[in-house]
Amino acid sequence: MCYAIPGKLARIEGSIGIVDYYGERRKILLDDNSVKPGDYVFAQGGILIRKIPESEAEEILKTWKEIFVELQQVDEALSKINANDTPDNVLAVLQKVNHRKTLTREELKALFSLKTTNECAVLYEVANHVRQRSHGNASCVHGIIEFSNACSLNCHYCGIRRDRDIQRYRMSVEEILCAAQRAVEDYGFNALVLQSGEDYSYDDDLLEFIVKKVRQLGVLVFVSIGSRSSKTYQQLYEAGARAALLRFETSNPKLFESLRPGTKWEKRISLIEDIKNMGYVLATGFLLGLPGETIDDVVNNILLTKQLNPEMVSFGPLIPVKETPLENSPKVEVDDVLKAIAVTRLADANANILVTTALETLDKDARKRALLAGANSMMINVTPSNFKSLYSIYDRNDEEIAESVVKTVKLLHSLGRAPTDLGR
Ligand code: SAH
Ligand code: SF4
Repeated sequence: MCYAIPGKLARIEGSIGIVDYYGERRKILLDDNSVKPGDYVFAQGGILIRKIPESEAEEILKTWKEIFVELQQVDEALSKINANDTPDNVLAVLQKVNHRKTLTREELKALFSLKTTNECAVLYEVANHVRQRSHGNASCVHGIIEFSNACSLNCHYCGIRRDRDIQRYRMSVEEILCAAQRAVEDYGFNALVLQSGEDYSYDDDLLEFIVKKVRQLGVLVFVSIGSRSSKTYQQLYEAGARAALLRFETSNPKLFESLRPGTKWEKRISLIEDIKNMGYVLATGFLLGLPGETIDDVVNNILLTKQLNPEMVSFGPLIPVKETPLENSPKVEVDDVLKAIAVTRLADANANILVTTALETLDKDARKRALLAGANSMMINVTPSNFKSLYSIYDRNDEEIAESVVKTVKLLHSLGRAPTDLGR
């Protein structure tokens, strides 16, 4: 099973390539000058990942061709807005969205404050419509390898914080490469996130070596290693990493600093900006439901996300973890997460919004509901099972990789989504 549909490079304009997916055009950054118009390529996150032989591409394209049109039709049908049900208080704001006008802070707040099932349903429908209008039925699925649960920080919300008494592991280079190879060869992943605690026992040179080796498998290498220095991120970029996931966690500096002892909010923001300026595909976002968080904080989180201009947005609910300072925090409502997804989509039509694992733990249908409320990308955990169960940032239901892949593909198909690159 291959996750990504290859595209044909139609044109090259400087460093930008225009890629055709069955007539749909998307722009990608050409990170490699060995390609020419007419070549078949895999792209991820709007970046060229690798060229693929014509015969291989044609075979994949042939398998997808019929189903692709079918999927588009399903997606279009599911993205229609049933205007008859629209409550009056939502109509004016949504008409503004429909005319592609920017919503004000007050309007975003009013949308996030909607309460009734009917109002929320309309909000989700409109967000899904905007998602479809901006991205068509493209969706992407990345793999994630959690390579170490050792962390030098003590974030109050996190289950692998330094002071929590848990069994720690660090995957060796061979173990990481073996997991990556399996994800690529057995399951067809084209983008892999390498995630860990802030674990300095992997020094910059070791991380560089790992990134180089994983990149050689022909995938987009995504790093999620916390607040390492700009110099580290620069070195990893040069080694071939092209995407980085680093959440700002909250737009409220006081809350940030009280929950992440010894760290500074401004430093985190400037690191995120540096990463973006280095040329990384940036994924950032926040935690929803932190103690003392107000609706204004949530709206500020959404606006700060937009201001940081990421290619991908990643936010999820706080899942309280036993034996952490936030163990007694109230459970976040699924609808609050869905509203945040929908409002983010309305604030930024072009965002690629991830459905996070944390959301999936709240409700078994949450992934589907999120994809129908404006989200358009997902991650599958490809960490070997003996380590995965120890990566206890929060409790979750770990599945076998194969099972997870089958379920995800089935879900995407049922919603008419196809794994073409999200482009730019
Ligand atoms: N150490 C790195 C990456 C691993 S943590 C870092 O902190 O950036 C990845 C994400 O897990 C964090 O950004 C945080 O938002 C999220 N997280 C931590 N504890 C969580 C919890 N209890 N519930 C939900 N998400 C959590
Ligand atoms: Fe470490 Fe990241 Fe957890 Fe903070 S959130 S304790 S940095 S793994």
